[in-house]
Amino acid sequence: MDDCVFCKVIGGEFGTEFIYEDDVCVVFKDISPKDKTHLLIVPKSHISSIADMADADADTVSHLFMCARDVAKSLKLSGYRLQVNVGKDGGQEVFHLHVHLMSKFSS
Ligand code: 5GP
Ligand code: ZN
Repeated sequence: MDDCVFCKVIGGEFGTEFIYEDDVCVVFKDISPKDKTHLLIVPKSHISSIADMADADADTVSHLFMCARDVAKSLKLSGYRLQVNVGKDGGQEVFHLHVHLMSKFSS
């Protein structure tokens, strides 16, 4: 998607540092953190929103949450929140699916 900011991040256009990367997703710091730790877990494939995901995307979405678990563990976060905003009225600003991982703790 040419006009998608997260596709550009994934493509390396902004030089964003990836805290974690595998075949399915990347993890990077939110540019405007709302907590001490605020990471975004983003699939490499462009899925615009949970509201638009296909049944075939279920494995990818599941992977994002497993990744959140593993990244939080590797950062030794004792507690955290996972948030997915869905749709403009749900607070979604970037229409490339992502999971916010937020914590009052940091590593
Ligand atoms: P949403 O409101 O769509 O759930 O969250 C989008 C998030 O992406 C926001 O918290 C915003 O700060 C973050 N964000 C938007 N553009 C960029 C960017 O270019 N780089 C990074 N690292 N984060 C971004
Ligand atoms: Zn995208």
